[in-house]
Amino acid sequence: MPGAPVEARQLLTNHMAKADLLATTENAQLKTGATIGILGGGQLGRMLAMAAARLGMQTIIYDPAADCPAAQTANRQITADFDDESNLREFARLSDVITYEFENIPLETVEIVGVDAPVKPGISALQISQDRLVEKEFISGLDIATAPFAPVESVEKLQEHLAEFGDKAILKTRRFGYDGKGQILINSPQEAAVGFESLQPNLLIVEGFIDFELEISAIATRGADGNFVCYDPAWNRHADGILRHSTVPAPVADEILKEATTIARKILEALDYIGVMGVELFVARSGELIVNEIAPRVHNSGHWTETACTVSQFENHIRAICGYPLGSGERHANCEMQNLIGDDINQLDAILAEKDAFIHLYGKTEARPGRKMGHVNWLSPLK
Ligand code: AMP
Repeated sequence: MPGAPVEARQLLTNHMAKADLLATTENAQLKTGATIGILGGGQLGRMLAMAAARLGMQTIIYDPAADCPAAQTANRQITADFDDESNLREFARLSDVITYEFENIPLETVEIVGVDAPVKPGISALQISQDRLVEKEFISGLDIATAPFAPVESVEKLQEHLAEFGDKAILKTRRFGYDGKGQILINSPQEAAVGFESLQPNLLIVEGFIDFELEISAIATRGADGNFVCYDPAWNRHADGILRHSTVPAPVADEILKEATTIARKILEALDYIGVMGVELFVARSGELIVNEIAPRVHNSGHWTETACTVSQFENHIRAICGYPLGSGERHANCEMQNLIGDDINQLDAILAEKDAFIHLYGKTEARPGRKMGHVNWLSPLK
């Protein structure tokens, strides 16, 4: 463009360079020193940023809260709202690849940044996991078992489904539920009516109650080359809807754990997924595996991989989105992960005195009830 003014020429050149880069690097390896943009600045973003730094990458966090946990370990933060288009465009311009650390990122946000940089995992996994109805339809469409479910538009319909599901069901909001929030156990038509009212005006789904033996999760990674690595599924225990403990090995027959891995693989492959996903499953008393939900991101129940595996879920996620080969997910120790929630942080001195405790704190200064402050991995030798 010999005739174009210098400024316009520069803009066009930059734009073409970026477009070229996107076209040629969609699944190619990023170079050392490239910048990974992370949408969301919580502890998952923090641990991703630390893993990225160890691989020689730069990170930039996008979060509305200044000094969020991830910003403390990243190279840079843009502090702005998720609907701030000009800051989102700037974030995307600075990033060679973009990922996210929570699934309730608005889809519009991802669409805006996706114009200027590849987003991995892609938007479809987000779309599916943001709505429990779409998620259950997707999973059962793959011939994978879920709890029986139905959308709920009226109390009468809810009562019908309750009877159909055996008079015990869970009513959930379709969107924005996390850590057990936005859901109610219902045992009778009266409870159905009260529950329905209390969750208005949200879109709702009802699920049959699964009398499970225990809950496990498969933390699975798929690389840009299609390679698949799944960590040993962990046994998870919750309190007040929040994960408290994850244990490997899970006290479940090997064939069931293998089946959980096969299910995870089917889900990731169906989405042509790149990165780490948490697949949460119930082990029914019959031994049947039932998928509860998927989280298209690194997962709290995979924090044990930080210490008990050569390559953690965080590093494998970074490897996948950078187009690198995946590392081994093999476990070299048994491990019990304990979340430090709220006042648990007061036990820190005692935990520090334990010689086999690996401690990871998230840099949060205020210990509110229910707030995840850190976690501990207690290692023991493989038996
Ligand atoms: P969720 O937000 O769907 O992960 O649910 C939080 C917790 O509620 C799960 O970890 C289970 O302990 C329990 N739960 C959820 N759905 C069901 C179900 N259909 N049957 C039995 N328990 C459930």
